[in-house]
Amino acid sequence: MVKIRMTTPLVEMDGDEMTRIIWQIIKDELIIPYVDLKTEYYDLGLPERDKTNDQVTKDSANAIKKYGVGVKCATITPNQQRMSEYNLHEMWKSPNGTIRAMLDGTVFRAPILIDEIKPVVRTWKKPITIARHAYGDIYKATEFRVPEEGKAELVFTNNEGKETFRETVYDFECPGVLQGSYNKDTSIASFARACFQYALDTKQSLWFSTKDTISKKYDHTFKDIYQEIFDAEYKTKFEEAGIEYFYTLIDDAVARVVRSEGGFIWACKNYDGDVMSDMVSTAFGSLAMMTSVLVSPDGNYEYEAAHGTVTRHYYKHLKGEETSTNPMATIFAWTGALNKRGELDNIPELCDFAKKLEQACIATLKEGKMTKDLVNLWEGGNATALNTKDFLLAIKANLDKIMA
Ligand code: NAP
Ligand code: MG
Repeated sequence: MVKIRMTTPLVEMDGDEMTRIIWQIIKDELIIPYVDLKTEYYDLGLPERDKTNDQVTKDSANAIKKYGVGVKCATITPNQQRMSEYNLHEMWKSPNGTIRAMLDGTVFRAPILIDEIKPVVRTWKKPITIARHAYGDIYKATEFRVPEEGKAELVFTNNEGKETFRETVYDFECPGVLQGSYNKDTSIASFARACFQYALDTKQSLWFSTKDTISKKYDHTFKDIYQEIFDAEYKTKFEEAGIEYFYTLIDDAVARVVRSEGGFIWACKNYDGDVMSDMVSTAFGSLAMMTSVLVSPDGNYEYEAAHGTVTRHYYKHLKGEETSTNPMATIFAWTGALNKRGELDNIPELCDFAKKLEQACIATLKEGKMTKDLVNLWEGGNATALNTKDFLLAIKANLDKIMA
């Protein structure tokens, strides 16, 4: 068989633990036999990040800026316990956070759907993609406990040293709490553009929600920036694509989402996105079936699984015990990236291969072959739990059939 040719390399970011093991099998068994795979490889596994003082993470983000498309394996975000486990020089920051900041990107999370795994919400028929603004608000807030009676004020001093704003927040007559949070027009605009762009790319309507009736300056600014950018840059493109931009209050959005059929993107402020993405992914079934893509406003894409490195399974694997780790989201990260590369480089065979690999995955599940995490959710009759490697080989058998 002639392998599918690639012209531009994909930025490949390897990772840690169980997902690193799955990563290698996916490449060896499901991709390299069919595709003349061209990647620029960055090892974001924790030992290499430690060895390079995390330079490798920055290099990989710059490579995505250069080539436009990356695929990333799950990685460990170190904590105290990892410091001793890996004998680290420093508690390195989350690679995802670093890459997101460097690309100024927005994360979109969407579930992989299959008829035999029914969402908890009966009306949902199509995926709901959540876009979370991962910058500012309470995640970068300054806060403290107010210890006694007194006046709390909000003050702004400009760079010339002139105080241009002072307002009382509250005259405390007893102890309490106080918080100051911020966001930036530039970050909100990047968030808006990434969402409008992704909506066009995926031909799905975009919903956006805040609490602008209560927060007349803060949340209202989000609403205004979205509307200005939409009117100036995207209105006509949305009309041509037959999709819409829809703004509503966050509480109205929650009610509408639950009654909807799905099939749209829901853009959320930072906190709303944090909470709602866990609600939506749980209601769709399993974290192991959740995909994630980071999109920058200037059109760079990084695909990954939403779950972590599945540490508990990895420790079993190290003890020689059998594991049944679900590779679906990691495979779909690869197919998302290969498909995007094919689109950008105009290689239809590559897009076609990505679709066939996804079909092979779905076909394998429909045969009742799956990993342990899905067996209890399965409503399609007999379901057999396979181990990690056997499930991947079952997908390969179906892929061979589809490719033949
Ligand atoms: P996790 O790796 O997502 O795993 C949590 C649990 O969810 C697992 O123990 C497993 O449950 C289940 N699970 C998740 N993915 C699965 C899969 N593919 N197949 C089957 N079951 C799956 O989260 P974590 O244990 O909290 O974090 C582990 C490491 O991952 C941490 O070091 C964290 O820093 C990192 N992390 C990385 C990313 C990323 O790179 N994007 C995201 C999150 C976490 P059972 O054990 O019950 O089977
Ligand atoms: Mg959360």
